Amino acid sequence: MTVSDLPKIELHMHLEGAAPPAFIRGLAKEKNTDLAGIFDENGAYKYKDFWDFLKVYEAATSVLKSPQDYYRLTRAVLEESAASNVIYTESFLAPDFCGGGDVAAWQDYLAAIKQAADEMEREAGIVMRAIPTCVRHFGPDQAKQTALCAAETVGDFVTGFGMGGDEAMGKQNDFKYAFDMAREAGLRLTSHAGEWGGPESVRDAIRDLKVERIGHGVRAIEDLALVDEIAEAGIVLEVCPGSNVALGVYPKWSDHPIAELRKRGVKVTVSTDDPPFFHSTMRYEFDRLAETFGWEEADFLELNKAALDAAFCDEATRGAVAKKLEPADA
Ligand SMILES: [Zn+2]
Repeated sequence: MTVSDLPKIELHMHLEGAAPPAFIRGLAKEKNTDLAGIFDENGAYKYKDFWDFLKVYEAATSVLKSPQDYYRLTRAVLEESAASNVIYTESFLAPDFCGGGDVAAWQDYLAAIKQAADEMEREAGIVMRAIPTCVRHFGPDQAKQTALCAAETVGDFVTGFGMGGDEAMGKQNDFKYAFDMAREAGLRLTSHAGEWGGPESVRDAIRDLKVERIGHGVRAIEDLALVDEIAEAGIVLEVCPGSNVALGVYPKWSDHPIAELRKRGVKVTVSTDDPPFFHSTMRYEFDRLAETFGWEEADFLELNKAALDAAFCDEATRGAVAKKLEPADA
């Protein structure tokens, strides 16, 4: 057995961003939409740089238009995750793309997504929880509407609230109202920071939005006092090394700070972000980490445990998943 065969816990994946290219091609064909330009000769997503990536992402997701499309998307994505032996996954959902932020429409989309997740839990043993996410570059007012969608649907399946989108737009604190609303509804909080933004963006998210997890957060490494604070406070980083390397945040795997952050006592976890766009899977991430940093099975068990401890699920679910993480011969 290699480390890539281990069961895995994933905390940071965008449902639309995880759409398998073949699934999107099929949907485009059904809808007579020409998306040929976004695929390379092998049928994978094709883009030149980060800005082009955003355009291709938008084009690919433009064919997702109904709850039924999201039902099929969720099944396709969870099949891929289960093939990497992911046993628990948290997925970011964007109410802005699922009904335009309207609560009733969002409920229809969410019901379809949950139905697919329930089926895949029975069929493939993968557990999914949902984190509705506001889109930073849509602004704070839209984020309030997204938080309302999340707050209205909090429960066993919708357990967190987050923020993604363009880190260059506005400040974390502009979204305080939305995060306060989500927290008061009982949702647990995470926000993207320290990917394109520097360490100050990580500090802002912790101080202003009072999040317990940070999406990426890797650029905290540029401020070692902050790294100590994060370690001390037990803030968990949702690290996506393959995404960072593919988008050029770090030129190569050996430049990535995940091992240094971990050595300094930060609780790091590993996720794929938008896997097919970065030619990644959870198996690939585990393999590259083992190869680059010499991590062994015990290291990956520790990563999985950190991720499960930080998972936004109830204790019964956490306990059930924990049993499946234990080595078979234990
Ligand atoms: Zn992300």
